[in-house]
Amino acid sequence: MTAQLTDRVLDELIAALGKDYVLTSKTARMNRARVPAPFPVHRWRERVPDLVVMPATTDEVATVVRIANEHRIPIVPRDGGTGLTDGAVPERRGIVVDVKRMNDIKEIDLENRTCTVGPGINMLKLNEVLAKHGLIYPDDPASYPCSLVGGRIGTSGWSLVGSRYGHTRDLVLSFEIVLPTGRVIRVGDGGGRKVSKSSSGYQLKHLFMGHQGTLGIATEATLKLYPKPEAEFSPFWAFADFDSAYACVGRLARAGVATFAGAVLFDEWKVDYLRRDDEAYIPQPEDVRALVCAVCYGNSDEVRAGGKRLMRIARDAGARYLGDEISQGDWAARHDRYATPLHGRTADGQVAPMSWHCEDAAIAYTDLATVRTAWHDIVAGLRNKHPVFDDWGMFFYTSADTGVDYLTEIDVGIWEQELDDASWAAWVDAKREIAAVALRHGGSISACHGSCREGEVDLVPEELGGGYDVMLAVKRSLDPNNIMNPGKYGLQRAYEDQP
Ligand SMILES: Cc1cc2nc3c(=O)[nH]c(=O)nc-3n(C[C@H](O)[C@H](O)[C@H](O)COP(=O)(O)OP(=O)(O)OC[C@H]3O[C@@H](n4cnc5c(N)ncnc54)[C@H](O)[C@@H]3O)c2cc1C
Repeated sequence: MTAQLTDRVLDELIAALGKDYVLTSKTARMNRARVPAPFPVHRWRERVPDLVVMPATTDEVATVVRIANEHRIPIVPRDGGTGLTDGAVPERRGIVVDVKRMNDIKEIDLENRTCTVGPGINMLKLNEVLAKHGLIYPDDPASYPCSLVGGRIGTSGWSLVGSRYGHTRDLVLSFEIVLPTGRVIRVGDGGGRKVSKSSSGYQLKHLFMGHQGTLGIATEATLKLYPKPEAEFSPFWAFADFDSAYACVGRLARAGVATFAGAVLFDEWKVDYLRRDDEAYIPQPEDVRALVCAVCYGNSDEVRAGGKRLMRIARDAGARYLGDEISQGDWAARHDRYATPLHGRTADGQVAPMSWHCEDAAIAYTDLATVRTAWHDIVAGLRNKHPVFDDWGMFFYTSADTGVDYLTEIDVGIWEQELDDASWAAWVDAKREIAAVALRHGGSISACHGSCREGEVDLVPEELGGGYDVMLAVKRSLDPNNIMNPGKYGLQRAYEDQP
């Protein structure tokens, strides 16, 4: 237990929130000690928070933060708990602030096309309500039903349809945030709540996104809305080799089709894994070695015309169309695949109960093929030494409408129950090597999840260069007592000269 967490502090928290919303049970705490990223089960107890609070309003969040700041108690914001870089895992115990009760829709502004919500709402629920107005909030991660708006801000999330609608950073217009001292401010693209472009002052919105809860807790957000698309077109194509599929995805992304919302390339390792171990896989002929899918959204006439152009490009690149049923079904299942029972294989072919993990990076199109080879080699080395790992192949997703860079992801099956100190250390080394390859190729360690975990986090100063010093200075200035999610991003360095 954190030394500062005395009965007095507990009484202050209960007085602020009521005793039902200050949770001390082992179950409530253990459940908030991990996220779906792999973790050494034998070390679970190291990261269990001392208690969990569930505030309902911005004022309650601010009060909790003030109490924590006054008593120097670590505090960790937590939303859906699906973040894959351990952001919502309390590294120094303390108080987890779970904002799931703050899930209301405060306003839907039909004229300005915005809505204002609490951070605890998920996109699925929000879109059910918006659909009645013919609108959509198009932040569409694979974790769509379970990640929440506040966590999307905390990670600066990446959306599967971001090439058309932008990512979380583009879709959140402004938000309210409780700073580590308990002060509440609103940040946006300018001062106004519903402004998408301003040149007034620092663009603070971006500073307070993707910080993994190290700079404060978002308590309300105003979001940009779009007309619910009339049409969706999501063709899937098969290829006899990776190189043709790679060439095709580049041409699709560069084609300038306005309704193009994204394309995904699956390499042959991924196809092998699906064929071997994914129970939801629809069998394909043996000569299928790579797959590409694309998706268009918009008004029917525009989607029809754009879709025709994409089909022509794919055909000219040697693609074989998999048909409407598979195409529509696979895209519709994009949020569900992770619920498929998972297993993998040890190096000698033994079937083992494995859980899914992915390492991601942002890589420019021209470097994808080289990065792919290097990453598979790293995982092969890991797998040969430790049979608890399996290579589940790679995906490459377009990040932008011009096809400049791709969310590049290698999926690794991990037999978590069998992890021990040696295999965990090897995993950490592999993560560091994976990140190093991304940097050597001019990429970013993470396009999507953040880079806080052991291994990758060592290279963040290298990626950011002088910017990392600015990050340390900002952290110390806004969080003088280092209470807000301490231990993440190596930010404790900002306090090294403090007694
Ligand atoms: C199956 C699966 C698929 C995924 N697919 C994608 C994908 O396609 N795209 C993508 O971007 N990510 C994806 N992720 C990762 C994850 O869903 C995202 O990182 C998501 O944005 C996390 O949201 P959350 O609500 O679960 O946040 P949490 O995990 O609770 O928190 C994430 C981080 O934000 C901080 N935080 C939480 N709430 C707040 C708040 N109110 N204010 C400030 N900081 C806060 C936390 O401290 C933590 O550091 C996937 C994860 C899984 C498990």
